Amino acid sequence: MPFLKRKGNEAQPQAPADPAATSRPGMPEEVVAQDFALKLHYAGKSSEGVRMRAGPRALEELPDMLVGFAQGAIEVVEPLPIEFGQAMPQIARPSEAMQWLHAHQDLSPVTRHALVVLESVDAIDLAFDTFACALLDGETDTSGYPEYNAIVGGVASHWDEATGDMIVRAVVGWGGRGVRGDTDRTGQKILAGILSNILGSQHALGITSVERPVPAAGRGGLVCAHCGFASGHARAFYCPKCGMRLLRG
Ligand SMILES: [Zn+2]
Repeated sequence: MPFLKRKGNEAQPQAPADPAATSRPGMPEEVVAQDFALKLHYAGKSSEGVRMRAGPRALEELPDMLVGFAQGAIEVVEPLPIEFGQAMPQIARPSEAMQWLHAHQDLSPVTRHALVVLESVDAIDLAFDTFACALLDGETDTSGYPEYNAIVGGVASHWDEATGDMIVRAVVGWGGRGVRGDTDRTGQKILAGILSNILGSQHALGITSVERPVPAAGRGGLVCAHCGFASGHARAFYCPKCGMRLLRG
């Protein structure tokens, strides 16, 4: 009977270990390593800023500045409120990654790709930037995600902390598992074209050398009395979303 047989086997003393397994194997003269690598290349370009008159009204015209360059839908991404203040497109940091996904899960693949590239190279910062984005050159794969040499981007605007003026700049980016020699040149050409569109806006006052604001680390948390936006940008004088003066308590 199988039952009895199994029991009998258990009772038997263990067979002595194979002598070959206990002796130390010889170290090979040369260690053969199997190498693994992934080369990701992300790049971005930002133009100088253009100072705009009539701030909040000019916000609605951001998508118009991509006319002649957008190869599909134009999406506008607004600054992130304070609850997404730690959002980062880095999957190894789950808390930051989940904030990022919650903030951007409804965007198109093109815009999400653009945010990964441009946030990774620090060309835009959604603590204060409003970003109008589209595919500008190249192809997408069957899921709608841009190929590594496709150029994405558009215009980013923020409010100058010194004057409250709206500052708009052209921003382009590309990248992934590959590089192509002529992408940089194409990107530069598109950047110049979009800057020309920005300067052609009826609100444009001219090129300005204003620095981008640096969001202060900390709680932030001023709530805009005009639009209700809770800013994560502790030192902001102007609401990152609507550009109105923030009231301090
Ligand atoms: Zn506001």
